[in-house]
Amino acid sequence: MQRIKTVDEMRAAVQSLRGQPAAAGNGKIHGARSIGLVPTMGALHEGHLSLVRAAKDRCDAVVVSIFVNPTQFGPREDYDRYPRNVDADCALLEREGVDAVFMPDVMEMYPPGTTTYVDVGPIGERLDGASRPGHFRGVATVVAKLFHIVEPDRAFFGQKDAAQVAVLRRMVRDLHFRTELVVCPIVREDDGLAMSSRNGYLLPDEHEQALVLHKTLRVIQSRFAEGERSAERLLSAGLFVMAYEPTVRIDYLKVVNPKTLEDVSEVEGRALVVLAAFVGGTRLIDNVLLEEPFLVNVIPAQA
Ligand code: AMP
Repeated sequence: MQRIKTVDEMRAAVQSLRGQPAAAGNGKIHGARSIGLVPTMGALHEGHLSLVRAAKDRCDAVVVSIFVNPTQFGPREDYDRYPRNVDADCALLEREGVDAVFMPDVMEMYPPGTTTYVDVGPIGERLDGASRPGHFRGVATVVAKLFHIVEPDRAFFGQKDAAQVAVLRRMVRDLHFRTELVVCPIVREDDGLAMSSRNGYLLPDEHEQALVLHKTLRVIQSRFAEGERSAERLLSAGLFVMAYEPTVRIDYLKVVNPKTLEDVSEVEGRALVVLAAFVGGTRLIDNVLLEEPFLVNVIPAQA
């Protein structure tokens, strides 16, 4: 596994990975070697590794980036104390058979005098974009840079960051990127807590309190399965559960359109329930998709 620090080296590595003979299968065009990219901020866990495995399944070569991107953190956020453990991360990635890890430093990604950023418009100001001004501008900018450097055929992201997925889909469409976005399901701890590099901040009793996020989403999902379609009533069922953990402070709990991130009042077809909350000083996010059941195979009783 190559460990790469500079943009030039990364470009050369991609060129050489593409030039190697393609393995059979992997859903790619015969003769062309496909590249999968998994962007991360490191402190890797099973959620990240699920993306790596999906990339291995669907691409001939896999590049993982590890970069704690300063432009997506607000001034009072956890950029300085964000967990960094590159050696442990590389050991995990090596075991997964990753071809190259791109771990540039900040000066490499943002050379002095950088003034160009990607602004995705109003969608970038919703949800985490409202709570963390500038967050999605930072995310879109760094992902655009990574796409230009690696030119991946496919890039793999987690449904865990559903708003990020919506923002990046918009960016890819608006800026005509050729990279296909592949979204992978949320990986959870056995107790239901969505895996996150920030879970390491939680004290044992905070971990216990944090389970209320998942419980809340599950209750909303079961109300939906029972036929409730009013966002207001779905949310009040959720708020009732959240009230069991009064120390957990809700940042937002909403039912939104998964593509635009705008609030919906009645769920028609699909909607996303998104939740962000502070547990102690740690901000956690989680979500669940609500989907109308498929009715195509239902056979009427009298048939
Ligand atoms: P991060 O390192 O937190 O920026 O995450 C890198 C990628 O891993 C993003 O696409 C995340 O959505 C994804 N990811 C993080 N946690 C999980 C999880 N629990 N399940 C699935 N994907 C995840």
